[in-house]
Amino acid sequence: MRTTINILGIKFDNVSMDEAVEIGLSLFEKEAKYSIYTPNPEIVMAAYDNKILQNQLNDGALCIPDGIGVVIGSKIIGKPLKERVAGYDFNKNMFERLKNTDKTVYFYGSAPGVAKLAAKKMMEEFKGLNIVGIWNGYEKDNSKVIDNINMLNPDLLLVGLGAPRQEEWISMNMDKINAKVFVGVGGSFDGFAGKVLRSPDIFIKLNLEWLHRLIKQPSRWKRMLQLPRFLIKMLVEGRRYK
Ligand code: UDP
Repeated sequence: MRTTINILGIKFDNVSMDEAVEIGLSLFEKEAKYSIYTPNPEIVMAAYDNKILQNQLNDGALCIPDGIGVVIGSKIIGKPLKERVAGYDFNKNMFERLKNTDKTVYFYGSAPGVAKLAAKKMMEEFKGLNIVGIWNGYEKDNSKVIDNINMLNPDLLLVGLGAPRQEEWISMNMDKINAKVFVGVGGSFDGFAGKVLRSPDIFIKLNLEWLHRLIKQPSRWKRMLQLPRFLIKMLVEGRRYK
């Protein structure tokens, strides 16, 4: 049984990082296919405005709070989520557990060359991790991507097209793809490849990773305006969601 907390229509699992990883791993042992999403406040607001996206996120087997904003939002309504579970770290923790097993991984998304470099770096960091294929996220012919994934038959498919593109892509294509667990990873491949550096520890510790990102990529400011909008919505109507 999942314990979820409804944040403006998105049901977040109330789990710690360790629990999230255990649930993620348990999905490989089951019959069906599963998706995992890691929304931040920006995506919660996109889903607030787009019910199709909201349903896609809620169809996931695991929904974890990528942003500290979501955790703050849960505190505002008096139903605190255990902790922030950053998608980036979640995926790396999954790699740690999947290395030296029979499970295979595929990276789909990011600019040409990035997924390849990300795969190389992750296989160096997690010796024994079996990344069997990659495809960049700018392929016009979707059937090529699907055919390649199906030929390689990975257990874990990471989709890094940015949100909400990756959520849409996963829910549209899941049926046709021979993979077991699908994860929307946003810009994580850029991070794995070292193209975008993770915030310094002090920013992470103080939960100010979003501020560091804003300083480094000022073009994100417009997207980030969703954060105050999210907090106001949580204050005004957050308690209505059951
Ligand atoms: N991207 C892609 N195909 C597209 C558009 C974007 O593969 O058509 C990739 C982009 O190269 C980047 C990621 O999607 O790696 C989006 O990163 P961003 O940090 O914006 O995503 P977020 O983590 O905020 O969802």
